Amino acid sequence: MCEFCEKHGHGNRWYLNPDNYSDEMMADRDRQKLVEEICGYGIDYYINFSSKVTGLAGWPALGTAIKAAIKRLAPKQHGGQIVSLEDSLEIISIANNFVLLPCACKRLVVNKEELCCLNFGPIRDMQRSLLPDGPMEEITLAEAREYLVGKDAEGRIHQVLYAKAPMPVCVCNCDLQWCTSFKQRFPHNIPEAVFKGHEVIVVSEELCDGCGGDAPCVERCGFGALAYDEETGKVMVDHALCFGCGLCRVACARDAIALLSRSLIPVASGNW
Ligand code: SF4
Ligand code: SF4
Repeated sequence: MCEFCEKHGHGNRWYLNPDNYSDEMMADRDRQKLVEEICGYGIDYYINFSSKVTGLAGWPALGTAIKAAIKRLAPKQHGGQIVSLEDSLEIISIANNFVLLPCACKRLVVNKEELCCLNFGPIRDMQRSLLPDGPMEEITLAEAREYLVGKDAEGRIHQVLYAKAPMPVCVCNCDLQWCTSFKQRFPHNIPEAVFKGHEVIVVSEELCDGCGGDAPCVERCGFGALAYDEETGKVMVDHALCFGCGLCRVACARDAIALLSRSLIPVASGNW
């Protein structure tokens, strides 16, 4: 269990606890203000937040005190955790008011607009009132499901984002090359920028034939967690690197890859 589940999950994953989606969450003035910033300032919020975190992380020696400050600040902002397609679909079965909004990361990194952030809850109405002419597409639950399945097949990473933990407001469907959360996480290994998911994968020795050394699953993994082993002729997983996105499964025609709870693999357990 991650620290958010311990604090906010009530025995479940934090983002699957229906209490965290309730209207009462918006009674918190700080959260309200944060949602207003995300919706009203749009991309400016991401620029400001990214520069704050990068500014802290850019200190010559990223010491314990700075990491502790980031750890304390991040849950009050708009952070998140990797989720599998299955959990993404469960999330939207709890949420309501679905809208697709432009990916702030893509706008920030390549100045292009793509409506690939699946937002829900208070975001729709807040966006309507603060940015009435801004791009936003309302979709039904069925369309949201179809959208997530399609993006998963394309190899997009799902991340559940909170607006001040533990209120989930979005499942983003990003690409590693744009994702500003990962641009903060990787240089200094700051887990709070984006937590790993609750699972890792296992590869079936029986089913994996190594695809003749040209393994599409290895290509699909953006985290370098998979490698073809010449000796066994199969693919091996480095569980310390696996984020549990589950995207490698889509690339495997032999159904040789499955997700398993992170807690069951010693090197991955507690490695968020
Ligand atoms: S795609 Fe499947 S069968 Fe091919 S190497 Fe990867 S896990 Fe093995
Ligand atoms: S091996 Fe890579 S693609 Fe597969 S679940 Fe882990 S991080 Fe995702």
